[in-house]
Amino acid sequence: MLTATVSTKGARRWAAGHPWIYRSDVLDAPADDAGAVRVTDQRGKPLGIALWSPRSEISLRLLSSNADATIDAPWWHHAIGRAIARRSGLDRETNAFRLVHGEGDGLPSLVVDRYDQWLVVQLMSAGLEHFRSDIVQALLDHLSPAGILARHDVSLRAKEGLSQDVELLFGAVPEEIEVREDAVRFLAAPWHGQKTGAFLDQRENRTLVGRVARGRALDCFSYHGSFALHLARQASHVVALDSSAHALVRAEENFRRNGLTNGEFIEANAFEYLKVQERARVRFDTIVLDPPAFAKTRSALQAALRGYKEINLRAMRLLSPGGVLFTASCSYHLTKPLFLEMLEAAAADSGRRMVLRELRGQAVDHPELLTVPETGYIKGALLEALD
Ligand code: SAH
Repeated sequence: MLTATVSTKGARRWAAGHPWIYRSDVLDAPADDAGAVRVTDQRGKPLGIALWSPRSEISLRLLSSNADATIDAPWWHHAIGRAIARRSGLDRETNAFRLVHGEGDGLPSLVVDRYDQWLVVQLMSAGLEHFRSDIVQALLDHLSPAGILARHDVSLRAKEGLSQDVELLFGAVPEEIEVREDAVRFLAAPWHGQKTGAFLDQRENRTLVGRVARGRALDCFSYHGSFALHLARQASHVVALDSSAHALVRAEENFRRNGLTNGEFIEANAFEYLKVQERARVRFDTIVLDPPAFAKTRSALQAALRGYKEINLRAMRLLSPGGVLFTASCSYHLTKPLFLEMLEAAAADSGRRMVLRELRGQAVDHPELLTVPETGYIKGALLEALD
């Protein structure tokens, strides 16, 4: 097996529970192609086995701290089996959930989402790509899916020197798959939709909001209406708003699919819409803000914070007395403390007394490893206007 030697700094990262070692901490690299390598420290002490990506800034991703492990088909079968077992029981609530959440499941750069009897995978490192057939075989053995689709149209793959395409790896995968999420049904779009076809990471937050929703409701970044559908079961009227007309066509279809007739679909910029509603002194009893990541890079954080504060401040002002706001951010660079600070500042400027009823994170099938901050990105808060 090929070997890589890492610096003390690199070794310390692993010791502190983070599986990545950067290029600058690799002292002696294997010349060969991507795959698995045995890693030692400067004194030759074996540290474990890692995925090796020759072209990436993230050179090594720890797979096993047992340096004698053999990374073969049975290894992948076992490791993927453990991740699947961790989700047991979830299929009672839904037929669509994440089976492997990369580093959060100890399987760096691997994502596997299940949509009913189909799987959507993302192999996001060169080292992992080397094991594609073992991974596909393990998924077939454990789950007998009707089809496996690779959503490899992600920019991360470019950094690894890998192609960016959407590719069928096994069987057949339909254009649309019906997702059952508690009492709601909606269509996922595995080939062309965002992420792997739907936003599975907010599932439990949608259920929560569905329980507390009432009166006139507004879902501001609605996409295919997944929050709006949960709102509509309890609220009298739901405005589903998105800047994408195409997304709203889907949202409207999803309302019909659930036999819901209390939806209104508005194509608009949420910033503008909230401003206009505030001026017109409109009130909502329930509001959801689930925007796209405003801070895609660390340098964009300050501008992003202003954006988050603005929409939250306006949403707070739009709430009727006793009204509830579920607000979220999926920007990894906006940390939990900064998210809370932003909400506190928005509340202070809103002129409303806002109660924090619940702090939330991402769905349970997206496990967040405390030593790997990159595994957690969703922050959510359920707020209530006191008066
Ligand atoms: N809440 C959704 C996911 C939202 S994704 C769910 O749980 O499934 C973010 C959505 O915001 C996208 O559909 C995008 O079209 C929309 N969007 C982005 N910028 C916007 C803006 N300024 N105003 C309104 N919608 C916007």
